[in-house]
Amino acid sequence: MLTLEGGVVVTSLDPPRVRRGNVSVDDGRIVEVSDRPAPEGALVVDCSGCVVIPGNVCAHHHLYSALARGMPYDLAPPENFVQILQRVWWRLDRALDEPSNRASALAGGADALLAGTTTIVDHHASPGAIDGQLEVIGTTLSELGARAVLCYEVTDRDGAERAAAGIAENRRHLQRGVGGLVRGMVGAHASFTLWDATLDACAGLAKESGVGIHIHVAEDAADEADARKRFGEPVLQRLADAGALDARALLAHCVHVDGSEVELIGASGATVVHNARSNMNNRVGHAPVGSFPRLALGTDGIDGDMFAESRAALWRAREADPAVGPGWLLAAVAGSARFAGACFDEPLLGRIEAGAPADLVVLDYDPPTPLRSDNLGAHWAYGFSSRLVRDVVVAGETVVRDRMLVRADAHEIRRLAREQAARLWERIERTPVHVFGPAGDA
Ligand SMILES: [Zn+2]
Repeated sequence: MLTLEGGVVVTSLDPPRVRRGNVSVDDGRIVEVSDRPAPEGALVVDCSGCVVIPGNVCAHHHLYSALARGMPYDLAPPENFVQILQRVWWRLDRALDEPSNRASALAGGADALLAGTTTIVDHHASPGAIDGQLEVIGTTLSELGARAVLCYEVTDRDGAERAAAGIAENRRHLQRGVGGLVRGMVGAHASFTLWDATLDACAGLAKESGVGIHIHVAEDAADEADARKRFGEPVLQRLADAGALDARALLAHCVHVDGSEVELIGASGATVVHNARSNMNNRVGHAPVGSFPRLALGTDGIDGDMFAESRAALWRAREADPAVGPGWLLAAVAGSARFAGACFDEPLLGRIEAGAPADLVVLDYDPPTPLRSDNLGAHWAYGFSSRLVRDVVVAGETVVRDRMLVRADAHEIRRLAREQAARLWERIERTPVHVFGPAGDA
């Protein structure tokens, strides 16, 4: 039993609700938020002067990019999104092996937990080492104490054998890797790197496993141009025809969708993950975020910091539409938790109320202005940040205490990561530019 005592508690983000109280936790769940003193025998954590919020969810991550920070690049600068993939990410992913996958999951998982992100929805690719890698990542994240929804990113860009291995890896994970804090989806890269038979196989596996497909959609105009040229229809229609578009689906980006596709997404119940910083960094355009009834936020591998991500998303959305305000940000953060909650069959994930899973973050935030339900969004946007994260609880267990990982040594993780990064970077330099590209004019 654990009681977080005396803090200001954000019991819900959508609608925003803030109260003062003690959060009691038992057996991985919240028992109550009340004014009552801690029950006898409970471990009491003083949260006075702090704000207690639900754990953040990163709804689209690529932990495999954790060792990419600062890697050398001596080719001509990429001029468009496809060249970014061919020259950067599709060289990195082919150079990954099991030790670097594990180091990436350790470094990225630690980074996320220390930033107050309790659930990572990951999209993994390592074409040179596919078999068993989701187990490596799942085990690593469980050791740290993070919640995870994992999948392997199936693609035809590296040939039929690796496409089949990707599907088999998703199947293996869904049959044997889920349980505890780990769940699964079926990963697929993007329409423009998938032949029909491969997409059909992904959709079939998702259906038979009772999970959704996690796929990049219309991140760049090239994906839409390819679908129209090769299949005579927009990306979303192609996914719908394959049976891949349903309420469990997770669609990353959706920057270049047209009106018919927005309607398809709305009718399907699928969740769109917006990755504002990545979209700006790759110069792919701004997604029509106001058009999607179920919106979540992801970092697309930049880091595990949902405070930074949500803040950037708000500012970019406001730049496009002055009607967007901090309430939009809170709803999007809550949307990420709603999606993760569906994966775990935990509809209360992302709330602090009786019966909800105890995924909690204590922020060392003593607000310089009154903090209330009606201005929580503004405090989130202009005051909250990952540097305030003091304690993190996942499923009732404290995994970050006083800014330190409880189950692992962050310095040792980073030492190992630097060692693996040096090896990985050498392999990347020997890996040629990928020749695969989409059909059609972007
Ligand atoms: Zn992505």
